Amino acid sequence: MSEPAIIRPDKQTFLAEENPFEAMMERFDHAAKLLNLDRGLYKVLRNPEKQIIVSVPIVRDSGEVEVYTGYRVLYNTSRGPAKGGIRFDLNVTLEEVKALAAWMTWKCALVNIPFGGAKGGVVCDPTTMSMAELEKVTRRYTSSIIEILGPDSDVPAPDVNTNERVMAWIMDTYSMHKRHTVTAVVTGKPVEMGGSLGRREATGRGCMIVTREALTKLGMTLKGARVAVQGFGNVGSVAADLMAKEGAIIVAVSDKSAALHNPQGLDVQDLLTWVKEHRQLSGYPKAGTIPHDQLLTVDCDVLVPAATENVITSKNARHIKAKIICEGANGPTSAAADKVLEDKGVFVIPDILANAGGVTVSYFEWVQDRGGYFWDEDTVNRRLEAILVRSFGEVMAMAAKHKVANRIASYIVAVDRVAAMHRLRGMYA
Ligand code: NAD
Repeated sequence: MSEPAIIRPDKQTFLAEENPFEAMMERFDHAAKLLNLDRGLYKVLRNPEKQIIVSVPIVRDSGEVEVYTGYRVLYNTSRGPAKGGIRFDLNVTLEEVKALAAWMTWKCALVNIPFGGAKGGVVCDPTTMSMAELEKVTRRYTSSIIEILGPDSDVPAPDVNTNERVMAWIMDTYSMHKRHTVTAVVTGKPVEMGGSLGRREATGRGCMIVTREALTKLGMTLKGARVAVQGFGNVGSVAADLMAKEGAIIVAVSDKSAALHNPQGLDVQDLLTWVKEHRQLSGYPKAGTIPHDQLLTVDCDVLVPAATENVITSKNARHIKAKIICEGANGPTSAAADKVLEDKGVFVIPDILANAGGVTVSYFEWVQDRGGYFWDEDTVNRRLEAILVRSFGEVMAMAAKHKVANRIASYIVAVDRVAAMHRLRGMYA
C-alpha cells in the first residue's frame, strides 16, 4: 500500500464544531490515516457516486402550482444497493444529503449488511401541507428519480418528517410504473404491506443491546444502572422502555416540551401512556422538571442522546457525569467534545453502532420481501441481537488494536470493509 494521503483544505475553513457532517468526514479522515488508505481509494471514498437534483412541481390545494427541489445522493454502492432515508424538510441541502449518504455507507458496512449508503430529501415544509399535497410531492419525487430506485439499486426508508404512510406511496408509485407489485423497493413500510415486525422498535432495541454490552465490559449490568434519555420519540422512548424492563432506573427523560427528573426512577410505562394521550411530556404530574440542558449532566451511569445532532459539545462535555454515552441520535457529539469525553474516560458507543438497529431490521425487511417469507418478531429480535453483539465486539477489538476511541474504531472497521470491496472489484475505467 502506498503512503497515506490525507488531502484536505485548510482545517480552519473546513472544520466547524456546529457542523456534524463535517465532523463526520473528519473522523473518516482519521480512520483513513490509520488504515493507511492509498491515495486513489481515499479520493474515491471521499466523493459520492451519484447526485441527483430534481424539480418537483405539484398543484396545491389552492390551485396554485408550486415547485419543490428534491435530491437523492448515492454515496457508495460497492457493497450492495444504496440504502438511506428520505426527509421532507425546509433545511434540506445537497451538502447535508451528501454527508448523510456517506454516513449510511459507513453504518451499513459497520454492521456488515450488504448495502451501500444513500440519502434523499425534498425541500418543503410538511407542517404547512395537506395530506393530498404530501402525497403529490411524494409521488412526483418518486417518479422523478425512478430510474435509480429498485430493490437491486436503491432502497429508501423513512427519515425526518416521512413515515410508513410516505413509504407506502413510494412503493405504490414505483410498482405502478413497473406494472407489478415491488414491496422490496422501500423499507419502513406498514407491516400489512410487507413491513417487518420489530422494525418500529429496532433502533431503541439496538441501543439497549449495545448499552448492555458496554455495561458488561465495565463490570456493570443494566439491572440497577441509572439512565438518562434525551428525546422521548421513537428511539428514546423504546430504549428507555426496554432498558427499564431489564431493570435499569430511568432517572431523567426529555422531549422538546419538557425535561423530567426523578433520581429514584421514572415509571416509563406511565410516561408512554401520558405521551400517547398528550403527545408530549410537558404537564406530566408525577415528576419534577429540570432545565433542558441539565438533562445531559444529571447524575447517571448511562446517557442516551436520542433527540437530535450536536447536543454534546466542548462546552458541556466536561460536565457530563455518565460513564457511558449511547448515541441513539445521529451526530449528537461534536468532534471537539469527543476529545473531552476521551480525556474523561467516558465510554462512547458511537451513533453508527448505537443506532444501527434500525437499518439492520430494514435489511431484514428487504430480505423478507425478496424471499416472500416473513419471520416472527422473536426471530427478528434474535437476529438483530446477534448482529449488534458481533459488531460491538469487532469495534472493541479494533479499538484495542489501534488504541483509539470507539468512534474511530467503528470508522476503521467500516471504511476498511468498503475499501476491501473496492480493491477486490478493481477499478472499471
Ligand atoms: P422522533 O421524531 O420520533 O423523536 C425525537 C424526540 O426528540 C421527540 O421526543 C422530540 O420532542 C425530542 N427532541 C427534539 N429536540 C429536542 C431537544 N432539543 N431536547 C430534548 N428533546 C428533543 O425521532 P426518532 O426517530 O426517535 O429519531 C431521533 C434521532 O435518532 C434522530 O437523530 C434520528 O436521525 C436518529 N435515528 C433514528 C432512527 C429510527 O429508526 N427512528 C434510526 C437511526 C437514527
